[in-house]
Amino acid sequence: ADKDLNYPTCPKEMNWGALYPFYAESTNEDYNNDTERAGKDPDSTQQQIRKNVEVADIGCGFGGLLFGLAPVLPDTLIVGMEIRTSVAEFVQEKIKAMRSQASSSQQASTSEEKPDSNVTPTYQNIACLRANTMKFLPNFFTKSQLHSIFLCFPDPHFKARKHKARIVSTQLNSEYAYALRPGGIVYTITDVEDLHQWMVAHFDGHESFVRVQEDDMEEREKMCVKVMSEETEEGKKVERNGGLKLVACFRRLEDPPWP
Ligand code: SAM
Repeated sequence: ADKDLNYPTCPKEMNWGALYPFYAESTNEDYNNDTERAGKDPDSTQQQIRKNVEVADIGCGFGGLLFGLAPVLPDTLIVGMEIRTSVAEFVQEKIKAMRSQASSSQQASTSEEKPDSNVTPTYQNIACLRANTMKFLPNFFTKSQLHSIFLCFPDPHFKARKHKARIVSTQLNSEYAYALRPGGIVYTITDVEDLHQWMVAHFDGHESFVRVQEDDMEEREKMCVKVMSEETEEGKKVERNGGLKLVACFRRLEDPPWP
């Protein structure tokens, strides 16, 4: 239930350092000592990081997209947000394991560095948190913080009376527009034709977004579409079953000038 969810009261209160220790301003030990000296509970205060999170995977499930994007956007902090406790914990544990595996193999091969085009992922740039994004998205991100939002194979909620549970709606799109910077992209993919039409209608009908075709995208953005189509767990399932992969992407427009 939402009452069991931990979420910051505002983005400044978010303890991002705990999720991305490699990017934290201080080590955990220094941080705990400093906050205790200041008479604060270390668990209740936020630890700053050197970079902001810029990519959010909404309803990340088992994290396939996170692991796929980690080497493609090696200098970008990416967060997966998932409402199911056990699933979020699974992804958190897997990230921990992948980080420690990457650090042992890096220690073992201290010799030649790999060229940039062949980045070995360290998984320090990905994290997962448990959240109900339909309620608390603006608690995590400041205005224009993100350059990409992924909505991959959202739950379809087929029946009309369940449509209000869909993670795309006029109101939620306004929240995505708030968190996304002008020029940023919302990437969507689904195998459900009706949901695809719904997402297209709601983003096309929103004044902050315009649909963008792959041909008009930068190389990095095209890569993101490829990873989204191939690396998510649902994408793999659809591939195995020979189903449809309906992709639609929307660029965040500049806000109109004040009248
Ligand atoms: N994106 C993943 C993929 O493509 O493999 C998972 C897709 S799965 C069909 C939809 C996921 O969204 C589920 O893991 C579900 O728990 C999560 N979800 C649904 N509503 C959510 C919400 N309000 N906030 C966060 N996650 C949510």
